Amino acid sequence: MSGDVTRIHTGKPENLTERFAHRAAYMHPSEIRSLFAVASRPDIVSLAGGMPNLTALPMDLMSNVIGELVSKNGMEALQYGSGQGHPKLREQICDMMALEGIRAHPDDVIVTTGSQQALDLISRIFIDPGDVVLAEAPSYVGALGTFSQYEAKVVHVAMDNDGLIPQALREAITSTRASGKKIKFLYLIPNYQNPMGVTLPADRRTEILEICHSEGIFVVEDNPYGLLGFDKPSPNAMRAEDSENVIYLGSFSKTIAPGFRVGWALVPQSLKEKLVIASESSILCPSNFSQLAISSYLADQPWRDQIASFTKLYKTRRDAMLESLEQHFPAGATWTKPGGGFYVWVTLPPEIDTKALVPKAIVAKVAYVPGTAFYADGFGSWSMRLSYCYPTPERIREGIKSLGGVIKTEMELRGLN
Ligand code: PMP
Repeated sequence: MSGDVTRIHTGKPENLTERFAHRAAYMHPSEIRSLFAVASRPDIVSLAGGMPNLTALPMDLMSNVIGELVSKNGMEALQYGSGQGHPKLREQICDMMALEGIRAHPDDVIVTTGSQQALDLISRIFIDPGDVVLAEAPSYVGALGTFSQYEAKVVHVAMDNDGLIPQALREAITSTRASGKKIKFLYLIPNYQNPMGVTLPADRRTEILEICHSEGIFVVEDNPYGLLGFDKPSPNAMRAEDSENVIYLGSFSKTIAPGFRVGWALVPQSLKEKLVIASESSILCPSNFSQLAISSYLADQPWRDQIASFTKLYKTRRDAMLESLEQHFPAGATWTKPGGGFYVWVTLPPEIDTKALVPKAIVAKVAYVPGTAFYADGFGSWSMRLSYCYPTPERIREGIKSLGGVIKTEMELRGLN
């Protein structure tokens, strides 16, 4: 279609990309998206995507909430609304954040179309081409995609099983500054991290906040999984300790449902105006319909119990995955043991290229995301992310058994056992 339009104007075919803005060159499909077509085949056990498991959501209740919303308050729900987000929902968001120790005012909350939009807005406001964003190594693929579209250079900071390492952060700041580049913010996911599944302990949170505060670097705390802890609550949010220097991102995608596309940013007062203006220019206002559906659901339904049924479901699946990893993965493979969320991160011997292994896994009817997807710099080739959120425990066991077989064969081929 666009090719035809080009021909009409010029009389001859031309390369449309020449007309694109410079930044379009940084718009690539994510590795996860290109995997999706295969991974969603019914014969494949997909440990690839991170889709919330909506079998635990009571659809009859949700249907009542939505039906009532339209019949009783349709004039508002189906109308345009405030660019900053509905005031009632912003209050409820503050109540929810209080569960993680955050004391916030609804005035400082901006409702967004998923937290993904908040990532986009923050990037738009802060990043000039060539600026540096510090991010965990590995980090959330959707955030890396956004940073790259704004032409940021992502500098990864080393992690261990307790998340980001404060000393590595100090070193990354020093070396980045020595190279003359500007650091715009540190992006991190302190709870049940995507993709590693690890959680940052309280003392590290404090240390990281102190480093960023003294270096004048904003912290972007992305926390979609924080309420999905299996055995104990996650430590208090970083925003609970520092309201001046932390931009906090939340989402209803994992605690209610991603189809509503409702998330939020809680920002220092000095940033609010810019964020609202940026958001209005991209979406005018977040969906009143989705916001009010969530607001009524939170007001009238036992949403804490709902979160508890999600965590129960995910915990059973996490257990199935960890047990079958023990059973079926070869010596030489190591993996994280998440206390919540959706993901396990597996590290194999460095000789194994997990991207090259995907076709063999697909033949064995299992899919995963190769580690390189979670790095901006091509690192991670011998690791993989396994999601346990979606398949049944039986399918997870089946998938891990097949994948263990594929990895063992590959290691034998390379003389690694
Ligand atoms: N941040 C992280 C760490 C995520 O895993 C996701 C979704 N997978 C998002 C942000 C975006 O979520 P949403 O836009 O649905 O709120």
